[in-house]
Amino acid sequence: MKIIAAFPTVELAYLAAARLESAGIGVEIRDEAITTLTWLYSPALGGVKIAVDEADVADAEAILCEPASEEGILVCPHCGSRDAAVRALSAAGGVLLVLNVPLPLAFQTADCRACGKSYGVPAHPNLG
Ligand SMILES: [Zn+2]
Repeated sequence: MKIIAAFPTVELAYLAAARLESAGIGVEIRDEAITTLTWLYSPALGGVKIAVDEADVADAEAILCEPASEEGILVCPHCGSRDAAVRALSAAGGVLLVLNVPLPLAFQTADCRACGKSYGVPAHPNLG
């Protein structure tokens, strides 16, 4: 197994792990317990890590580098198109996550590829 990514929180690690597992890649999550117990030290420990088989490293890295698009689920309120891309977390949000500031990420921004307009989408459909 080889560590391919690290995350400041368990939740982010599980989101990434779910993307890999849905692509059929076996995932091992490391340092989850210590980070949960002492989240303040997560940055010092290097965060929650995801490891995959050596044979899956290239595929896994490619999947994690793709923007998390939800094609077919989002519908543009301006033109009705389902062709949209959800923006990656903003730089400011990323900095706050690194600093372990709890951030209520209720909405992300999606960009419609058909009409070019942007609209807000729930960051976590289950909380929607
Ligand atoms: Zn549109």
